Amino acid sequence: MSWRSAPSEAADGAMRRTEITTPEELPEESGPELSLRPQRLSEFVGQDNVRESLRIAVEAARQRREPLDHLLYHGPPGLGKTTLATLTAREMGVNIKTTSGPVLEKPADLVGALTNQREGDILFIDEIHRLRPVIEEFLYPAMEDFKIEIRLSEGANAQTMTMSLEPFTLIGATTRFGLLTAPMRARFGIIERLDFYPQEDLSRIVERSAKIIGVQATRDGVRELAARARGTPRVANRLLRRVRDFAQVRAGGVLTVAVVRDALRLLNVDEYGLDGMDSRILATIVEKFDGGPVGLNSLAVAIGEDAGTIEEVYEPYLIQEGFMMRGPRGRLATAKAYRRLGLEPPDDEAQDPHPSLGI
Ligand code: ADP
Repeated sequence: MSWRSAPSEAADGAMRRTEITTPEELPEESGPELSLRPQRLSEFVGQDNVRESLRIAVEAARQRREPLDHLLYHGPPGLGKTTLATLTAREMGVNIKTTSGPVLEKPADLVGALTNQREGDILFIDEIHRLRPVIEEFLYPAMEDFKIEIRLSEGANAQTMTMSLEPFTLIGATTRFGLLTAPMRARFGIIERLDFYPQEDLSRIVERSAKIIGVQATRDGVRELAARARGTPRVANRLLRRVRDFAQVRAGGVLTVAVVRDALRLLNVDEYGLDGMDSRILATIVEKFDGGPVGLNSLAVAIGEDAGTIEEVYEPYLIQEGFMMRGPRGRLATAKAYRRLGLEPPDDEAQDPHPSLGI
């Protein structure tokens, strides 16, 4: 078992087709991203409710000199779940160990990490919905009573030994809250959902990142970039790095609206921040399934992409922006999707659920 240093997709060996606005971390990003990751709560932009509730929890725990309650963050990829976990450790002044659901094979993989923790330390488990049941069960007494049961031998009459742990905090992150088991959910004292960032917050994130990597940008250039970043800080940072290259080579280094537009046209990102994969999803629903409804699995087969990835990575933003709807019988393309594809929506078409959001 390895403590994670590479992104989790790499860990479970899945090769995924990625596009410029794919919200998941790309392997080459883990290095550059580190310098952009907020280190303190005060640097974390937006998600005001989440930030405030964490600030209060941290302050209360510090005053009582107790470990923080177990915390669970859920929401689409790239919105700051890992960032919150690492900065919580810094705010609490404790150590953090990071792993992820799919890399943990057996309870023994966690024993060392758990028994070496000092009081208040944090264990961060990304993709916690992918923990195997045996590991979940092993974690319950650890989370609840700070105890673990270690099997000393195999078989029906295996001997076990109970070990006490220092009180610690488990922080879990998941993109699929619905897949987390009820007993696991029940063991978290604080559960917070992260939502896509509004353009103003993303603009502040882009501004901050531009300062850190030393790019000059006009206010409108920043806003333009933020508008096309899928409400996702990770995508905003990635676009910023790519547009910086373009600005440097073609436009004297300054990020203006025109530079952002030209660069993103080249990168195949449209004015909504949709890229090739999003277009493929919408075009497939419209062209192969008559606009839907189409079940997720049929859609996935037609596109040649994993159903879970479509559901977890692409769909939330398409739904939020009103390009697609989820009905009881499957996915439907909205009038906005037809227009995005340059097509006339059919008369009986599902109505655009967010007509005012057309940017
Ligand atoms: P997740 O764990 O939800 O997939 P991360 O925490 O890895 O997302 O966030 C991706 C990147 O986006 C971070 O490295 C950080 O640079 C940036 N980021 C995320 N949230 C914020 C925020 N609120 N303010 C500034 N930057 C952020």
